[in-house]
Amino acid sequence: MRILLTNDDGIFAEGLCALYDALCMEHEVFVVAPEAERSAVGHAITIADPLRVKKVKRGRKFFGYAVNGTPADCVKIAVHELIGPQIDIVLSGINRGANVGINVLYSGTVSAATEGVILGYPGIAISLNSYHDPDYCFAAYVAACLLDHFSDIFSENLFCLNVNVPALPAHQIKGVKWVNQSTAPLLEKFEKRIDPHGHVYYWQCSEKFTESDPETDVVALSQGFITLSPLYFNITQDTLLQRLKRQNISL
Ligand code: MN
Repeated sequence: MRILLTNDDGIFAEGLCALYDALCMEHEVFVVAPEAERSAVGHAITIADPLRVKKVKRGRKFFGYAVNGTPADCVKIAVHELIGPQIDIVLSGINRGANVGINVLYSGTVSAATEGVILGYPGIAISLNSYHDPDYCFAAYVAACLLDHFSDIFSENLFCLNVNVPALPAHQIKGVKWVNQSTAPLLEKFEKRIDPHGHVYYWQCSEKFTESDPETDVVALSQGFITLSPLYFNITQDTLLQRLKRQNISL
């Protein structure tokens, strides 16, 4: 397969390199990723500034293109300018930290894979549920397996597969589970601080999921399952739309 590989943690992130290493023997992998970390930028794109691209080496070998833009910018510029349209799938990750629940909407990792879907390519976003000294080897192996396993499904359906892997030793993982994206609100906290000049500033310091449904990504991941959710970018509420269409609106 011809794979476009990107992320939101930056082109030098360990998770991206682990995924590259797991895929490059069997696939043609093209790396186009942000030059610096762009986590939680969601589906933002750059329109007011130029996009600059640098060739990046890993060791002495060409590795990929670093872009001074967002994950979604990377996918667009890869397809339109750097790699061309002949790719089979967009892979994004492996992200440092889970992308489940409402955080899916803020995620640059998921948005890069979804951008692929918008442009007509299937996408996989893969995240590891750990921020502290993560070991990406098993998650990279999972990504490679899923790519083989779902190649037929990907060729027949255009969607983004959101994959989250628990940060557990392989033998403690309970299995793979298809789940819904949790929509339960997050409990968020801001810390109010004062800078050395006496000005108040705020820093988001914690968030907690409030979900309890085991059929959701948030709960299944916390229980030790690898979670899989098919996503799509059309966020219209179709059932409500059909109902609203029956109403007469006279202005
Ligand atoms: Mn990230």
